[in-house]
Amino acid sequence: MGASLIKEIEIRIKELEKDIDEFENVARRMFKLVKVAEEMTRCLKEKELEDALKLLEDYGYQGIPQFFEDYDSTKTIFGKYVKRLQNLYKDVNYGITCPNCGGSGIILKREIIRAEGVVQEYPKVERCSYCNGKGVFIVPEEIKKRFDAINAKYLKIIKELSEITRNRLISK
Ligand SMILES: [Zn+2]
Repeated sequence: MGASLIKEIEIRIKELEKDIDEFENVARRMFKLVKVAEEMTRCLKEKELEDALKLLEDYGYQGIPQFFEDYDSTKTIFGKYVKRLQNLYKDVNYGITCPNCGGSGIILKREIIRAEGVVQEYPKVERCSYCNGKGVFIVPEEIKKRFDAINAKYLKIIKELSEITRNRLISK
C-alpha cells in the first residue's frame, strides 16, 4: 500500500520536471512585473505621473488596472508552483504521513465486550497495519535525488531573479 503513495510522489515529481520551464517563465514574468513597479515607484516619487503611465504603455499595459490584474494572476500561478515544491519537499525529506493512522503508527479500535448482560465499548490499541507501525513512508533515495535535482533548478531560478531585483534596489 505504501508503494502506491511512493508512486504518487514519483508522478508529482515527473509533473514538476515537465513544468519547470513553465515555472521559469512565470518566475521571469513575476520579476519583470516587479521591475516595472520599481520604475513606476521612481516616477511617482518624482511626481512624474505622466511618465509613469507612459512607462506602463511601453510595457504593453493599457492602464493601471490591467497591470494589477497581470500581477495578481502571475502571483497566484507563481505561488501554486512554490506550494507544489514545498509540499513535495516535505514528503520527500520527512516521509509521507500514513493516511491510515495519521503518522502515529497506532490505531485505536473500539471493542464491544458483553459481560454479565452489559454491553460496553472498550478502546483497543493496535499497530497500524498500513504502515506496520512506522507512521511514515520514507521516499527511496533514487526518487529523492530526482526531486533534489528539480528543487536545485527551482532555487537557481529564484536566486538569480531575486539577486537582480535586490541589486537594483540596493543601487538606488
Ligand atoms: Zn499507519
